Amino acid sequence: MTTDQMKKIGYLRIFASYYKPHWKLFLLDMVCALCICLVDLAFPVVSRYSMQNLLPQQLFGAFFAVMALLGGAYVLKGVFYYIVTYWGHLLGVRMEADIRRDLFSHMQDLSFSFYDKNRTGQLMSRVTGDLFEITELAHHGPEDLFISSVTILGAFFIMLTIQWRLALVVFAVIPIFIVFTSLTRKKMMRASTEVKAKLAGINGEVESSISGMRTAKAFANEQAESDKFNAANDQFRGAKRGYYKTMAFYQSGMEFFMGILSVLVIAFGGFLIMQGRMDFIDLTTFALYVTTFITPIRKLSAFVEQFMQGMAGFKRFVELMRVEPDIQDAPDARDLGTVKGDILVDDVTFRYESSPEPVLEHVTLHVHPGETVAVVGPSGGGKSTLCQLIPRFYDVTEGRILVDGQDVRTLKQQSLRGQIGIVQQDVFLFAGTIYDNIRYGRPDATEAEIVAAAKRAEIYDDIMDMPNGFQTQVGERGVMLSGGQKQRVSIARIFLKNPPILILDEATSALDSVTEARIQGAFDELARGRTTLIIAHRLSTIRSAHRIIVIDGCGIAEEGTHEELMAKGGEYARLYETQKHVAV
Ligand code: ADP
Repeated sequence: MTTDQMKKIGYLRIFASYYKPHWKLFLLDMVCALCICLVDLAFPVVSRYSMQNLLPQQLFGAFFAVMALLGGAYVLKGVFYYIVTYWGHLLGVRMEADIRRDLFSHMQDLSFSFYDKNRTGQLMSRVTGDLFEITELAHHGPEDLFISSVTILGAFFIMLTIQWRLALVVFAVIPIFIVFTSLTRKKMMRASTEVKAKLAGINGEVESSISGMRTAKAFANEQAESDKFNAANDQFRGAKRGYYKTMAFYQSGMEFFMGILSVLVIAFGGFLIMQGRMDFIDLTTFALYVTTFITPIRKLSAFVEQFMQGMAGFKRFVELMRVEPDIQDAPDARDLGTVKGDILVDDVTFRYESSPEPVLEHVTLHVHPGETVAVVGPSGGGKSTLCQLIPRFYDVTEGRILVDGQDVRTLKQQSLRGQIGIVQQDVFLFAGTIYDNIRYGRPDATEAEIVAAAKRAEIYDDIMDMPNGFQTQVGERGVMLSGGQKQRVSIARIFLKNPPILILDEATSALDSVTEARIQGAFDELARGRTTLIIAHRLSTIRSAHRIIVIDGCGIAEEGTHEELMAKGGEYARLYETQKHVAV
């Protein structure tokens, strides 16, 4: 289901819509559940009939035939039970897969600004925790509701027909039982919410500790990290203690009620037997129905809890699904096609949603096809921001950005980004082989093309030195590769993609001179014949650029060639002097 469809209808209807593709399984589940109920309900009443009517008349043949029938019914019940457990769960699994698919695809569509605002850990817990509860509800919800209702109604009428006076005694006790159950269940729900919140706290700690492990070790701060974790762990333990306390209270209360109810039934039943209003067989049968009657009531109160939790998770899911990506293709968006690579940043002002101050103010920059422009400036000056506006990762606040004369907001995002290659400073390698990571640049590339790209990116020899060559697995974050190697893998990706426009964000971290020379060589080779914007941190790159622009706080401060800017003796000359000392 899409964002638009979800905006028009309520939660329950959206939930129900996920059953629709699997309605046959759902129906099968329900029919089997009904059969299970009927077998359970029939057993005591049929036994009672045989004992009261067949045994006294010594109709042993008929008696055993009925017993054989009951045995057969239980064989069938076994089959139905299997179907409900297996296929019913499968229904849940299929719905979960559908919900997960919709969520994942929606999250892929969301814009950068969404990820600026939301923490990864919280999103992860939505994708895992919420979905688990939704699936539980999806599978068990309708089944529990249905089985319980049928059983309660069935048992209710049978008990009334066996002995209405005794039935009235049981029904009189039920409201007390329901009130107790719902009160303690509410307490349990609060306790369980607390447990979840504390668990999220632990997960947050673990996530931040693992991602910050290197920093923690570098500052020899492992103890402080452990302390923070232990505090979260203690809180979680406390919350669980509270939960189990309420659970123990609930369960012992239930046992108490069941016991009292049994005593009441036997006592009043005994009284009725003495009065000659019922016999022993009636009483035994009746006692069996008391259990049959109570179990679904317990289940129903559990259902209320499950429904509330599942629905809370489902609401969070729908809320996420209803978030519109800030950046969407216009209905009449055009395909860009292959471009020459002319970029015009036309009087652009930009500010991030989270900040009142603009990062760029009235910036105008024209990059001609095939030209290499180095963007330099102080850290935080807005270099990366400017480069992120060209592939439309964010929309400009004012002004416009044209690629080959076309406003990027009028183009299909995919076609625009297909024309741009981006090498990021912090290269992300996906878990998998080096081969797959390079192929990411163009999934239909042949092996020969991938090898050629690796050679041009000067990473081929490094790959050949690895234990399994191209089939070497990289860690989740490519931990086995050095920063320089990762950059070259990402350069190889771009060689495969072969876009006319390039955006290169150089690594700031110091590289040894051999690696630096190789990366520089690969960059130069990559930039040849393409329109290139380089966020430059190293002097060598700056010197090979056709033009240099200096971005500071709010826009372009200076512009020109290296020589021109040095002669001017302004911001650039100052930066150059400082960097020269650092680089040497
Ligand atoms: P540079 O690349 O020159 O170091 P950036 O473009 O990364 O500078 O950042 C420019 C300014 O915008 C900085 O003040 C930075 O804090 C802010 N900024 C960068 N990214 C975001 C973001 N996603 N949300 C809010 N502010 C941001």
